Amino acid sequence: MAYVRAPAVILATGGGGQLFQKTTNFPGASGMGYALALEANAPLVDMEFVSYEPTVAVGSEKIAGMELPTMAFSEGCGCSMVGEKNSFKTAPPSSKDVMSRAMFREVREGRGTQNGAIYYDLRNMSPDAALGYSQIRRVLKALDVPSREAQVEVMPTQHFLMGGVVTDECGTSEMPGLYAAGEVAGGAHGAHRLATCGGTEVIAMGAIAGESAAQYACGRKRSGGEGRAVPRPELLQTAMDAIDQDRIATVRAALEGGCGALRDRQSLETS
Ligand SMILES: Cc1cc2nc3c(=O)[nH]c(=O)nc-3n(C[C@H](O)[C@H](O)[C@H](O)COP(=O)(O)OP(=O)(O)OC[C@H]3O[C@@H](n4cnc5c(N)ncnc54)[C@H](O)[C@@H]3O)c2cc1C
Repeated sequence: MAYVRAPAVILATGGGGQLFQKTTNFPGASGMGYALALEANAPLVDMEFVSYEPTVAVGSEKIAGMELPTMAFSEGCGCSMVGEKNSFKTAPPSSKDVMSRAMFREVREGRGTQNGAIYYDLRNMSPDAALGYSQIRRVLKALDVPSREAQVEVMPTQHFLMGGVVTDECGTSEMPGLYAAGEVAGGAHGAHRLATCGGTEVIAMGAIAGESAAQYACGRKRSGGEGRAVPRPELLQTAMDAIDQDRIATVRAALEGGCGALRDRQSLETS
């Protein structure tokens, strides 16, 4: 492995969804950027703020992990959420964090399906409106059911980490020369990221952090390499299967149990 000495470094390693038992994130979202920042003595902020995507299919293997659109609720087209014994208490539309908490509560209080889920109920939605969504089309095709009969089991799944490296408005961390942009940076979204703001943040802060890092690097004299940090190649890997699996399992159970959508001070401290 080659090491490159640089006067400025921008962390853009994304989030850490793979640290949770279930996530919408891709396998490279290993959270290594947070470890790299801590290794460089750059503090993190808001790490307890975890957002969940509410309507991810569970149950049938044919559709497990497929996301269904929450937009369908807000268009007044009859899509609804139904527990096994009562209709869903928090009527959508509401924001994804409110919806996720309400769904976990329904299940915890015994009103979920036999599989511990909530139904994404298409029976009262017009088929034309339902089939207008590519995600709904994919799920109905996989299950081979018409939309008028479809009740799909869904549950919230970890989606985005609002916490991350402490940065200022220029993407500068508290460690001189270290910058962060995108999901690895913390504090831009507060306790919950609103839909579509992830892409906007990446584009805006990526450009700003790049410019800041370039300015910083231009103002630095070349040094001979003294004070070189000890290489930590294990922090550069993104594949979770390269990491101790027992440790990963422990971390996943602790995060899912303690930092889930229904987290509170006690669960955070216990985990
Ligand atoms: C399923 C899904 C749907 C989404 N839909 C939307 C949407 O509609 N609108 C929206 O605004 N946002 C959406 N988001 C959020 C959006 O994707 C993120 O906000 C955005 O991708 C974050 O960009 P990033 O560059 O910070 O990280 P990423 O896009 O995750 O990129 C990080 C990169 O760094 C690499 N990496 C990680 N660790 C290391 C390491 N140690 N060494 C080297 N490389 C490393 C990763 O492999 C990856 O290529 C969605 C997210 C998901 C998961």
